[in-house]
Amino acid sequence: MTDNILHPAEVSTLYIVPTPIGNLGDITQRSIDILSSVDVIAAEDTRHTGKLLSHLGVQTKTFALHDHNEQQKAAYLIERLQNGESIALVSDAGTPLISDPGYHLVTQCRDAGVKVVPLPGACAVITALCASGLPSDRFSFEGFLPAKSKGRKDKLKDVEQMPHTTIFYESPHRITDSLKDMLEVLGPDREVVMARELTKTFETFKKLPLGELVEWVTADSNQQRGEMVLLVHGYRETTTEEMSPEVIRTLTAIAKELPLKKAAAITAELFSLKKNALYKWGLENLE
Ligand code: SAM
Repeated sequence: MTDNILHPAEVSTLYIVPTPIGNLGDITQRSIDILSSVDVIAAEDTRHTGKLLSHLGVQTKTFALHDHNEQQKAAYLIERLQNGESIALVSDAGTPLISDPGYHLVTQCRDAGVKVVPLPGACAVITALCASGLPSDRFSFEGFLPAKSKGRKDKLKDVEQMPHTTIFYESPHRITDSLKDMLEVLGPDREVVMARELTKTFETFKKLPLGELVEWVTADSNQQRGEMVLLVHGYRETTTEEMSPEVIRTLTAIAKELPLKKAAAITAELFSLKKNALYKWGLENLE
């Protein structure tokens, strides 16, 4: 086997190795070479990773490193690295550390002066973003939304006015509740993309205003299955083009009777626009 390895692992090095997120073909030759030549593979779930390794014909031993023992085992692994061994870190799927274990080990390696080498590869957030049709020049990845509705809505309020694409991981048993909370906080017009079952047989991208997406997902239980990423279009200020003559007439008429703040709020409600933008327009044009 060693003869075929083009990229052999170096001593005293921790390698971060991404694994496929569905399609087993999505692993690089370099990743396979590293997995084959390290002394040990630290895996989130050794049984799960075992299946991938046997598919790849890799016989390297595995070591369990998951959320519950990572802090405790990191020192032991660092000692092995300092004694000249090489270790590959993998998670169940995709890139370790991205909503997966590995942060404590990597940060402790850095603090101890141990070399850390990242290998590029599969990651659901990037896979979803690049084909979503949403702006990709700036984005923020927010991981999973909180499990409880109150925490979820608080988080959504925090990101509501972010101007860039905001991306969340979600699980099938929470998807409808999360979408309903999104609808409540972000409103029916916000464009959202649901990217489901990426790289797998039933890969689906659906881009709809939130009100329609919630209906579409709740009406079809198939859309609530599998693995999914939600990508939310950034907040858009109401532009002057959206200030149609009808909006301007309404705002102007109400502002004659009520304070501008109140007039902006009523007009925003009537036309599903943002009250702050209407208020700002009113200050510049009516006062
Ligand atoms: N480390 C992984 C990565 O690099 O993407 C993510 C691990 S996180 C525990 C699992 C979540 O990632 C899933 O709940 C889902 O939101 C997203 N995910 C993983 N694989 C996916 C796929 N094939 N299609 C859509 N989303 C996926």
